[in-house]
Amino acid sequence: MDFGWTKEEQMWRKAVHDFAQKKIAPRTREIDDNSHIPEDIIEAMADMGLWAPTVAEEYGGQGMSVTMATIAAEELGRAEISLALPVMYLVQASWGFVFDRYASAELKREILPAVTAGKAFLGIASTEPGGGSDIEGVTRCTGQRQPDGNWVLNGEKLYISGIKEAQRMGGAYMTLVRTDPDAGHKGFSFFAVDIKDNPQVSTTLIHNWGRTGISTGGFNMQEMPLADRYLIGEEGRGFYYAMEGYTYARALIGATCCGAAETALKLGVDYIRQRKSFGKPLAAYQGINFPAAERYTDIESARLLTYKAAWMADQMYSKGAFKPKDTALFGAMAKLRAPIMAFETFNEVANWLGAMGYTKEYPIEMGIRGVRSYSIGAEGGMNIMRMIIARELIGNEYTNPRR
Ligand SMILES: Cc1cc2nc3c(=O)[nH]c(=O)nc-3n(C[C@H](O)[C@H](O)[C@H](O)COP(=O)(O)OP(=O)(O)OC[C@H]3O[C@@H](n4cnc5c(N)ncnc54)[C@H](O)[C@@H]3O)c2cc1C
Repeated sequence: MDFGWTKEEQMWRKAVHDFAQKKIAPRTREIDDNSHIPEDIIEAMADMGLWAPTVAEEYGGQGMSVTMATIAAEELGRAEISLALPVMYLVQASWGFVFDRYASAELKREILPAVTAGKAFLGIASTEPGGGSDIEGVTRCTGQRQPDGNWVLNGEKLYISGIKEAQRMGGAYMTLVRTDPDAGHKGFSFFAVDIKDNPQVSTTLIHNWGRTGISTGGFNMQEMPLADRYLIGEEGRGFYYAMEGYTYARALIGATCCGAAETALKLGVDYIRQRKSFGKPLAAYQGINFPAAERYTDIESARLLTYKAAWMADQMYSKGAFKPKDTALFGAMAKLRAPIMAFETFNEVANWLGAMGYTKEYPIEMGIRGVRSYSIGAEGGMNIMRMIIARELIGNEYTNPRR
């Protein structure tokens, strides 16, 4: 067992840390207030290789390992605690990986070089108005193969990250649709759908109360023709690709939560060291420093789960050492622990700050709003994580809600 970092990992962390602290951290409030990630930040991130770095070098990425991508997610979360920019990063890193792994070479050549250059957006569109947790039960979007071998897509996707950005930049949504109504979870397929200037697509925007720098909304496809080359991977494998992408994204979410929580804790510790009450620094009271110790330990626990999930995924991809269900389990554990841990850390620090903690002078409120999106639903709600974990612990025959 080795808990150390390789030289390459240390150098990558330092490079991303320095970049993010210098170029991104000072602009967190601007990103949140303007509900927009400035174009120069996107450009700088692409120059740093932080735009879908998991994509192969052939298409402009870095073919980065899950662990390296997770390190970057932690450093971005540490710098930008409204979490808009980390979300933008992790959506493209995780789904870019899946796209790169399964799409045809022709489709990758068409879409990925612009994505890795920061000129196009790559997103995931799985959730629908009827729900996101129960993909098999509620997905209504359909893809029907035409006699000429091409497709027509119909239906609505909702609560989708990056609608405004995708309209502006173009690119692709990995869009999950039902292509065989009788095949259960084996009846889903992924298509690359570009919503920019698409006459068969109408869009909506939703106003979230957190991580506002990246938009959320929906799109509706009406009799939308699509050439067969936009089918991603094999027909009927969409559900499995979705699970793979979610597992990847959950490790990255775990890392952004650890980074953001550590920023909050550091800010809080700086404050309690200097703020005096009843003649002593707040830090001298166990009512304050014991919760600080708890939160510090919680961050480290979540980090261990997160990097174990990332390491297992790397071992799976490079050596076949684990099965997808093993990595799904640890991805779910990281996602179950890290967002709650981060929320509690922000909340605790807000207490220490007193009235100051309830102002916008401190960034704590941005973190509370941002991190809550992960426990409410983004990349799967908490009960869905519990469901995955219980399934592995107890057995699908006992825990599957459909049985
Ligand atoms: C900010 C944000 C961004 C998002 N971005 C995207 C995106 O880019 N692409 C995308 O496809 N989706 C996106 N989503 C949607 C997200 O994937 C869904 O919110 C998530 O899958 C849950 O679906 P739902 O919101 O429809 O809740 P529902 O599925 O309706 O579930 C509601 C609640 O019930 C719980 N629940 C459901 N079933 C059970 C059960 N059997 N037992 C116990 N509890 C249960 C859930 O955990 C949840 O708490 C985003 C969500 C948010 C909040």
